[in-house]
Amino acid sequence: MLAPVYRAAVIADPRLAGTVIEPIDEGGPDSEMCYAFPSWWKSDKTSPHEVRVRLGDTARILALFERATEEFPVSYGIIASRVGLELSALTPELLYAFGFAHELGHIRRMLDLGEKAYKKQLRADLRQLPVRNTTPSDLMDRSSVQRRYVDKHWEWYSKEYGVQTVEELSILQQHAYRNSTTEREADEFAASVIQIGTDLLG
Ligand SMILES: [Zn+2]
Repeated sequence: MLAPVYRAAVIADPRLAGTVIEPIDEGGPDSEMCYAFPSWWKSDKTSPHEVRVRLGDTARILALFERATEEFPVSYGIIASRVGLELSALTPELLYAFGFAHELGHIRRMLDLGEKAYKKQLRADLRQLPVRNTTPSDLMDRSSVQRRYVDKHWEWYSKEYGVQTVEELSILQQHAYRNSTTEREADEFAASVIQIGTDLLG
């Protein structure tokens, strides 16, 4: 299902042909669907960047995307607008393809910027969020370090952002995260890949 996406991404940026695609262990947490694994996380820093992606049980993968759309409607609403669709028109199949292309978009920026500049941008992005250094899924995961910090200092967050619930704070967090430079660029690349895929590969 992802092969045409990979082909379209390589058409968009031939450097991505050097990216290694590794399957994620299916026993891992549900939230680990697809992520970029930079070469600088490996012992051999000269090895290529990787995208790790959950393959295999497609029905389950698609069900997880369906659930994520319900949990993070703002994030997926932004994704929908980036591919020119209404939220209701986003299928789990499209999200799976988009998510994979999005991670390839991160790899592209890693190739552009290199380790130092990429990390610098990422740090700056994560610092600007309402809840710093926290992804929207970390915020909604009651057991995460970041969420426990928010719960502990709830009065401050509530007053600072004028919100009554974590769900309301999550809406702000999703907006800020999705519009951060690193995430927006990866989304825009993914949207162009989906467009190429539709135009050329059917
Ligand atoms: Zn991303």
